[in-house]
Amino acid sequence: MIVILLGPPGAGKGTQAQRIEKSQGLVQLSTGDMLRSAVSAGSEVGKLAKDFMEAGKLVTDEIVVGIIAERIEEDDCKQGFLLDGFPRTVAQAEALDNMLDQNDLKLDAVVEMQVNDEVLVDRITGRYTCADCNAGYHDKNLKPKVDGVCDYCGSTNFNRRADDNRETVISRLESYHAQTAPLLPYYEAKGLLKVVDGMADIDDVSTQINEVLGALA
Ligand code: AMP
Repeated sequence: MIVILLGPPGAGKGTQAQRIEKSQGLVQLSTGDMLRSAVSAGSEVGKLAKDFMEAGKLVTDEIVVGIIAERIEEDDCKQGFLLDGFPRTVAQAEALDNMLDQNDLKLDAVVEMQVNDEVLVDRITGRYTCADCNAGYHDKNLKPKVDGVCDYCGSTNFNRRADDNRETVISRLESYHAQTAPLLPYYEAKGLLKVVDGMADIDDVSTQINEVLGALA
């Protein structure tokens, strides 16, 4: 199964993608994670992407399309994958259509996580992840059971993303509305768009997504 998770920054795409990866056995392909790794590694792609990411702007279509085109050729994608944060422009969506055609693959669904803009700034500026297992937490909405200790791996090291600050979030939301939201009618016209209520609590959103995916299987 090939599925896209679509929604504004802070909608919970990463959290839900990690859960679906476990429950449905689909590999999570997050262009944001891949780009952050490239920036940390100081690779050519990382050097090209860094300034865009810090400014809350989209990196070029060419870079992200190149990353995804290589990644979907890998063996672990043969059973299907879940795209988190890609595509983000109509040009990327068209490039994805071509890539899938060339590999004899087809997109099964695009799940839009609908969330009101007003809650997104709070959601994003409060979030952090375990530095060792990448589990997601939030200062108010999702604290570890024991303060300062990861529920899953016991690590006491946590990271906050450099771009999860108020100023950059505003720019990322603008990019979403201007460049990514046009994907909604694009996929609706193809009969692929499914909508879930991203304002519901985390477990409830997972249930909604699993229902959508279950109906496809
Ligand atoms: P994310 O982790 O998905 O919020 O992505 C973090 C940042 O990486 C974004 O603000 C963009 O600068 C960049 N990025 C991630 N995915 C894409 C994409 N598909 N197209 C362009 N830029 C992207």
